[in-house]
Amino acid sequence: MKKLTIAIDGFSSGGKSTFARAIAARLGYEFIDSGAMYRAVTLWALEHGIVRGGVLDESDLIAALDRIDVRELAADPRIRSIEVSNLVSQVSRLPAVREKLVAVQREMGRRGGVVMDGRDIGTVVFPDADLKIFLTADPAVRARRRYEELQAAGQEVSLAEIEENIRQRDLLDQTREISPLRQAPDAIVLDNSNMTLNEQMTWVEEQLCRLR
Ligand code: C5P
Repeated sequence: MKKLTIAIDGFSSGGKSTFARAIAARLGYEFIDSGAMYRAVTLWALEHGIVRGGVLDESDLIAALDRIDVRELAADPRIRSIEVSNLVSQVSRLPAVREKLVAVQREMGRRGGVVMDGRDIGTVVFPDADLKIFLTADPAVRARRRYEELQAAGQEVSLAEIEENIRQRDLLDQTREISPLRQAPDAIVLDNSNMTLNEQMTWVEEQLCRLR
């Protein structure tokens, strides 16, 4: 059977990666977290003195892009810190950053058999994806989920700080000039506010059956 390309886009902390990883495991496909790549570039900037007094030096970052090993850094757990979350949307709005990362993502998904999650996968990275899902959930539900995740990872962050971070990122991601977060016209919307992962998997099986 043909190896499909599955794109999952949506708002911050909506459970995209958990869902994408589960779909990939079910199909024996590769899971690719594109957000981790934007976080990796952000972590690198924070650790190389490219952020001073909370302000990102855009030209320094752009000049350093070729030296950043995105695929390796994307596996670093520190990319999930609140410091990275607070800065990542400033990094992801830069055209040079997007150009580099979209090229890496297309290369990784070239042969199909991938489930990739992000903000622009169905609109820009793989506009011809076989299945496009746009995941939404109530902002309060999303904040609570991220809070529990960070607590479990031993990070001390308040619920209020997470709510504010999610609100800011949604706004910046939707209003940036290049590749803003948008639902592709042919994407299927899934609101998972009141759904378990099992229920989401049942839903996706139905979508996959329709493709076969
Ligand atoms: O998915 P995650 O929340 O980890 O993504 C972190 C940030 O990376 C997003 O808030 C967004 O600014 C950026 N991003 C993006 N395009 C993608 C994936 C993530 O701009 N495809």
